[in-house]
Amino acid sequence: MTEPLLRVENLDVAYGRSQALFGVSLEVMPGSMMAVLGANGAGKSTLARAISGLVPASSGTVCFDGQPINGLPAYKIRRLGLTYIPEGRGIFPGLTVNENLRMAVGQEPRGERTAAIERAIDMFPVLGERRSQRAGSLSGGEQQMLALARALAVPPRLIIADEMSLGLAPIVAEAVFQSLDEARRSGITILLIEQFVNRALALADHCAILTRGEVGWTGPAADAQDEVLERYLGAADSSVGEETTS
Ligand code: ATP
Repeated sequence: MTEPLLRVENLDVAYGRSQALFGVSLEVMPGSMMAVLGANGAGKSTLARAISGLVPASSGTVCFDGQPINGLPAYKIRRLGLTYIPEGRGIFPGLTVNENLRMAVGQEPRGERTAAIERAIDMFPVLGERRSQRAGSLSGGEQQMLALARALAVPPRLIIADEMSLGLAPIVAEAVFQSLDEARRSGITILLIEQFVNRALALADHCAILTRGEVGWTGPAADAQDEVLERYLGAADSSVGEETTS
């Protein structure tokens, strides 16, 4: 039987005295996409940061490809092929598009870096026209394309995408979703933290809903029907994000 690429077991995370995650467990199978949903403050970003080694867990385990990774520094987790695209994009606004991409491929052998950058630009041609433009001056959608291009330049095994659609117009958010879907079809496993609930459920195979730091519900995305969303996200929240126009 296939083993999960990512297995989180009984994860507790606290910021000082304030506990944010309580015994969170989930499994993500290789090549699949899991949507992580939850109201504001439910602990979605904390889960992403704990998996990526950016905040320590107080107990529990995170295994990536069968290997425990808790306690490893974030850069080592990244090198194992687990890439986190944080909310707010994680690009360097003062550097150009090209410089941002060059930093993303810095660990590659020297002779392979240019090809990796060109591959990334081929995936997002809009970036090709803006190579020498400062990343901070790109539109929100272009910045997310750059964040994805950085993540995909050296193809990772798993991407954690944290609210990439936040603040984007629906048509631009759709382009980002399409790129994530293509990445998944190319074999990359994806943990999708999303506010566009219905869109996330349409793309994902599985879903985990966090409520106040705990997994309230988990199952196939197709089974996350309205009553589940209402119960765990609140009636008003099941359509959160669908009307975002900014
Ligand atoms: P959102 O959708 O608003 O981004 P979220 O589901 O990602 O929310 P988290 O950002 O993980 O939720 O926050 C979970 C809890 O941890 C919240 O109560 C939040 O206030 C708290 N928290 C998050 N980051 C910190 C921090 N750096 N220091 C202290 N508390 C924090």
